[in-house]
Amino acid sequence: MRMEEQDNVAGRPDWVTDGVPLEKPSAARIYDCLLGGYHNFESDRTVVERLLEHVPDLRLTAQVNRGFLRRAVGFLLDQGIDQFLDIGSGIPTEGNVHELAQAVNPAARVVYVDIDPTAVAHSQALLADNPHALAIQADARHADQILDHPDVKRTLDLDRPVGLLLVAVLHYLLEDEEAYSAAKTLRDAMAPGSYLAIAHTAFEAQFEIQDRENLRQTFGRAQPTRNRDRAGIQRFFGGFTLVEPGVVFAPTWRPEGPNDLLLDRPEAGRTLVGIGRKP
Ligand code: SAM
Repeated sequence: MRMEEQDNVAGRPDWVTDGVPLEKPSAARIYDCLLGGYHNFESDRTVVERLLEHVPDLRLTAQVNRGFLRRAVGFLLDQGIDQFLDIGSGIPTEGNVHELAQAVNPAARVVYVDIDPTAVAHSQALLADNPHALAIQADARHADQILDHPDVKRTLDLDRPVGLLLVAVLHYLLEDEEAYSAAKTLRDAMAPGSYLAIAHTAFEAQFEIQDRENLRQTFGRAQPTRNRDRAGIQRFFGGFTLVEPGVVFAPTWRPEGPNDLLLDRPEAGRTLVGIGRKP
């Protein structure tokens, strides 16, 4: 039985973590729904339906973001990175970071961090037999708690370069002060030669004003987000050196071929991305 039938017919699906309210939409499950996953509730699907009425290509936005994540992990692996800290990792889906990394290097280490209990529970179930990857529940705003977490300490060697992934998460950190300070705490803890990959929704994208207002009304109530402009996103890299082509719309970051999704109208992906290296 498909998940959407299951939560209508049987009430609470058995994969739902205790205490998670079914009626409250969450960013992780909305994103899962946009990507065609099954780990979402009626409340999430209602938000997605309304979002798609206003922004019909929003599913493409999610896919474009996943494409950047995949290319970013590939790039980091090519640079010799063999340990990853993926914050705001989401509900597992096709092309998870540990799958990409361990296909190239079976000993690659990955720590997933998410604030959402459903995302963490699914990640933990998926990784139960994986000796080199795990998931913890934590809030990106408390970066020092992530760095001090015993599972992070025992899995990652922060004295060596790490691939830090902040992909489609910083826009949930609404307050500039806490967003920039969390990024700085993480950057400061990384060894030289570490890389930081960021994807962030941008208001440089060509939103129709009405679209923007509708999105605020619909998505904002479910899970508020904060768009930042190119300079605001670049600031998250601090003293890291941006690798080519800098902070650009996601489809144009080292595309794999001329037919890449939205390469013909990259700003429609609404996401600016970049990768920086700690000198
Ligand atoms: N990084 C994945 C990707 O790009 O495919 C998933 C991105 S999904 C759009 C955003 C994720 O960030 C969600 O799973 C959400 O639960 C998580 N998130 C939002 N706010 C967070 C916070 N303060 N701390 C940690 N995770 C957070």
